[in-house]
Amino acid sequence: MNVLKDRLAADDHPKKVNLAPGTYRCESGQPWILPCFRLAAERLLADRGYDHEYLGLLGHPKFLHYARELVLGPKVDTSTIASLQTVGGTGAVHMGALILKLFSDRPSTVFISDPTWVNHHDVFQHAGWRTESYRYYDSVNKSLDFGSFVQSLRTAPSRSIYVLHAVGHNPTGCDPSLEQWRALAQLFKEKDHFAFFDCAYQGFVSGNLEQDRQAVELFASHGIAMCVAQSLSKNAGMYGERLGALHVFCGTVSSTKLVKQQLKVLTRREISCAPKYGADLVSTVCSDPKLRAMWDSDLKHISGRIIAMRHGLFDRLVKLETPGDWSHIIRQRGMFAYSGLTPEQCNALVDDYHIYVPRTGRMMMAGLNEDNLDYVAEAIHRVVVD
Ligand code: PMP
Repeated sequence: MNVLKDRLAADDHPKKVNLAPGTYRCESGQPWILPCFRLAAERLLADRGYDHEYLGLLGHPKFLHYARELVLGPKVDTSTIASLQTVGGTGAVHMGALILKLFSDRPSTVFISDPTWVNHHDVFQHAGWRTESYRYYDSVNKSLDFGSFVQSLRTAPSRSIYVLHAVGHNPTGCDPSLEQWRALAQLFKEKDHFAFFDCAYQGFVSGNLEQDRQAVELFASHGIAMCVAQSLSKNAGMYGERLGALHVFCGTVSSTKLVKQQLKVLTRREISCAPKYGADLVSTVCSDPKLRAMWDSDLKHISGRIIAMRHGLFDRLVKLETPGDWSHIIRQRGMFAYSGLTPEQCNALVDDYHIYVPRTGRMMMAGLNEDNLDYVAEAIHRVVVD
């Protein structure tokens, strides 16, 4: 049960603000259908030959081709990668956890950043793994605790599995720099660790799909053992269509065959096949240069708006002379700001100001807009000062 969601739904205060969701909101606070996908939908439905038949066990071949190229880049050797369409990014993490459980002889503890996406531990444990947190966040400086991350990688048993947020770390908004990713790749090589990439926010950080896959590309170019659980829920703005894919780097053509076979068996048992409509939309956009260019500009709009809201909030807090250093709001990247507000301050925002922020202090920056920025900044000021 999501208490905050229920309270928000029942709240009819005219100034209520929702900073809690994990989904993008446009300037008017509403869900946003990306224009390129709206056009693709119109095109599909106008096509008299279009159908809603079942997909095959591995999913939509064209979608898989485009999704893989989006997240891995054009250079990888596709003959040694097993790709599967999944039920969103959640399904991709789940299927990745399952297939590793079947095939890998690596240590049985999976290392996950602290903090992380709320579902990570549960999904891995559900697939039979033990999970352990590694220190990732420096709550004093409100930034990545790179030293502790490196320390964990050094001291963990060799060949351990690490879950890495590819870009736009949820919830902290703190990603390693390219230089730091290079150092991490080196360590993964040295210790033969396995990189389990979770890529849920590609395009939301830089506004550029190519740039936001740099960590994944870097690790792939080093030949590090890895897989990528990819969500297109956010960057295609189609949360309910459950768009995702898993890409497992198998090393050889024969093991790729085996892994694909097993992924088919697992898919058959669990869902029979992945959903088709959203995959058709992605294929339509990616196969049309005009729509594809529109997608790029839609993502630039999203990331630009998020950055503008970060600056809008930061500037107001500075102007109000709200006690504390708020620079992390503009330093952190992607959809979330890990505000550093205490659980009590978050409760006060909800109870006294109808501003919905979870007790972790994670704020979804696109919940802000020109109409509510002043109100939110003043409310934060009040709960910090009081
Ligand atoms: N991984 C991370 C880091 C996420 O933030 C999310 C969504 N909140 C997911 C995976 C799941 O994505 P999806 O909604 O596509 O299942």
